[in-house]
Amino acid sequence: MAGPGPAALDAPVLHLRGTVVRGDEDEAGQAWVVGGRITYARPAAPVDAVLEGWVLPGLVDVHCHIGLAADGAVDRATARAQAEADRDSGVLLVRDAGSPADTSWVHAEDDLPRLVRAGHHLARPRRYLRHYARELDSVADLPAAVAEEARRGDGWVKLVADWIDRDLGPEGDLRPLWPREVLVEAVAAAHAEGARVTAHTFATESLDDLLDAGVDGLEHATGADAGHIARMAATGVPVTATLLQVAQFERIAAQGEARYPRFAARMRAMHARRYQHVRDLHDAGVRVLVGTDAGGTLGHGLVVQEMAEMVRAGLPPAEVVAAASWRTRAWLGAPSLDEGDPADLVVLPADPRVDVGVLGAPTAVVLRGRRVR
Ligand SMILES: [Zn+2]
Repeated sequence: MAGPGPAALDAPVLHLRGTVVRGDEDEAGQAWVVGGRITYARPAAPVDAVLEGWVLPGLVDVHCHIGLAADGAVDRATARAQAEADRDSGVLLVRDAGSPADTSWVHAEDDLPRLVRAGHHLARPRRYLRHYARELDSVADLPAAVAEEARRGDGWVKLVADWIDRDLGPEGDLRPLWPREVLVEAVAAAHAEGARVTAHTFATESLDDLLDAGVDGLEHATGADAGHIARMAATGVPVTATLLQVAQFERIAAQGEARYPRFAARMRAMHARRYQHVRDLHDAGVRVLVGTDAGGTLGHGLVVQEMAEMVRAGLPPAEVVAAASWRTRAWLGAPSLDEGDPADLVVLPADPRVDVGVLGAPTAVVLRGRRVR
């Protein structure tokens, strides 16, 4: 992950006062930002501004599609506006979950969040939302395509593991896209390139194959049963809850009701169980990640709403805040607020581990040592 650029040389000196949260049970009473970086040593240079409150490492959204909107890829100005909305919500690190647009230019923009790209998500024709994914005609092409996307991205590859199969007519329902042996080979191909794999999955039927293949993350995973959850806990495979997305399942069910009643019934049941599902994951010890799924049908900048949904589901606010900040930064290999780390942080008027709602009105958002809000 790149540090501050040359612009940091004339960056302001900031004094952070209050509670600087660096990690679980790791706090400091004050810190400074000098040259775009955190220091706990009082600088000789005069302070340009004092920011007071609860200081947290910048928020992380691990399921966010910069460069994608309802109809597919967007132009650069639109992608920039998406990234700005994420940034202004306190999200200073994004792992995208697949984008049809090449957003590698974001890396050079000092005022936009740091971005970990997953390349173009991989699916099959007619087996995902139109214009979103790279569609492979033959399932046998998956391992080679995964290797290509791994080289194109920033260490992640995104697979679409299941979707409605409309060719089944009135029996149309969620079905896996890839045979087990292809998944095994595809995940191995990503790992050989040094990339990790995460998979979109709503269905129950995909999960054992994905876990057998050794995926590094699961998106939604609404079809998980107790056995799958135990496997995730044992192997440390995290799940991005995307509760704002799952909240739409009722509407999706209503749209599909007439033609695909089985599919509609399944989506409706998962919608009804969504809070219990996230509680079950958490109670079993599965790492539950914060992801808004912004960029398809959902807007950008909704991280606080997603966190509020996770709290509504019954997760402790302190766990949700840790997942949205330092713990997931560590999991992605990104810095937090240790000595010398880039100053990517939010300043809040109260402790969000008591009430995540305070994240909705930050006192300041500092990116690469500069105040952006
Ligand atoms: Zn998504």
